[in-house]
Amino acid sequence: MINEYVQMSKMDQAVAYAFRPEVTQANLPMLMSNDPPLEDYRVMALVLSVKNPRDKTKTIKYSGKDTAVSYHRLCLCRDLDSGEEFYFLTTNPTQTASIFPLFRQSQLHGAFIALLEPIYKQNKILEIPLLTLKEAISPATINLAKILLNDIIPDPGSNLITTFLFATIQLSLVQCKFLSGCPAPFCDGYHGAEILCPAPQAQSSGSLQMALSCLVSVPNTPLKLVSHISASLAKYFIAHNSLTKRNLDIPLLKVSIRQTVQYYAERNVRWLIGGWYKRNVERGTTKLHISTIRPETVLPEAPLFSTEVPEPANIEAGPVERRQRARRFEDENVPGPAPPHVEPPARAPPAPRRQRAADDAPAQEQGQEAAGKRPRGE
Ligand SMILES: [Zn+2]
Repeated sequence: MINEYVQMSKMDQAVAYAFRPEVTQANLPMLMSNDPPLEDYRVMALVLSVKNPRDKTKTIKYSGKDTAVSYHRLCLCRDLDSGEEFYFLTTNPTQTASIFPLFRQSQLHGAFIALLEPIYKQNKILEIPLLTLKEAISPATINLAKILLNDIIPDPGSNLITTFLFATIQLSLVQCKFLSGCPAPFCDGYHGAEILCPAPQAQSSGSLQMALSCLVSVPNTPLKLVSHISASLAKYFIAHNSLTKRNLDIPLLKVSIRQTVQYYAERNVRWLIGGWYKRNVERGTTKLHISTIRPETVLPEAPLFSTEVPEPANIEAGPVERRQRARRFEDENVPGPAPPHVEPPARAPPAPRRQRAADDAPAQEQGQEAAGKRPRGE
């Protein structure tokens, strides 16, 4: 029925269909039991990875079966209720289009989703259950009290793939940079040239989507300087008006990000971190991937980095003040050698005449006038 709504372009109804009152929440152990639910149930999940295979002829084998299939997209998810991981896949472009239509304009990688009436048909990939879908997946809003979080990142033991989702106040993001990402919103804005875009349709043009690149650490966990690149993460640290700017002031950006993390910590707002790791049996190594980092509650007043240069009349509450605060933070908190000198943003000295005009003029006009007079190129 979700698919019928999608065909009628009734996207809101399509999403709402999985959340009708009569639809109950199920989990992976229920689907795998001898008495699985039959109708009107959904599974809530976190999308950990979406893979578009480089080798289109490559096949994966289901355990216990001789059949090997080639796939078009392969999705690794974590059931939010039980914490168990599962896969689902599509085998051709038509099926891909029918499973992901509600994510054409929004990010799937790292998203919370609802799967309506998925079925477990005794198939596994890499020892992980494979679910079969009949309906398009829906975006979902999550009640954090109802999802299973790990206290610690679980030890993979003998598992080939282990997933994790936990909450922490102690987050450290270092070596932060801003990269121009992929224009497809679906894939969270970044994947290197070696990895094919997982979006249902290739999207080579479109608005620039910038992604935050950083090394993530959380004390007393295996997360130590783990590389993470994400467009959705950037939105918690960088003002909306600066999210498409290429040249961000890296030293000030780094200080601003530290301030934002501190702001959340002082208010006891935790960061949800979800990801997975895969064990390479031959090499005896495990590789850890982060799929999502997000605050459990977004604080609208949290400091955000901005490249906008405010005009004199707006200085008091504007980003320059934040940049100055960022500078003070750096001066006070970075021990050792002095941080590299950064020129303050260029702006015209406040002229008394304009100041008076500013008192009377509407804010927008004032900004335009001043912007025209601003010296450039410094
Ligand atoms: Zn992409």
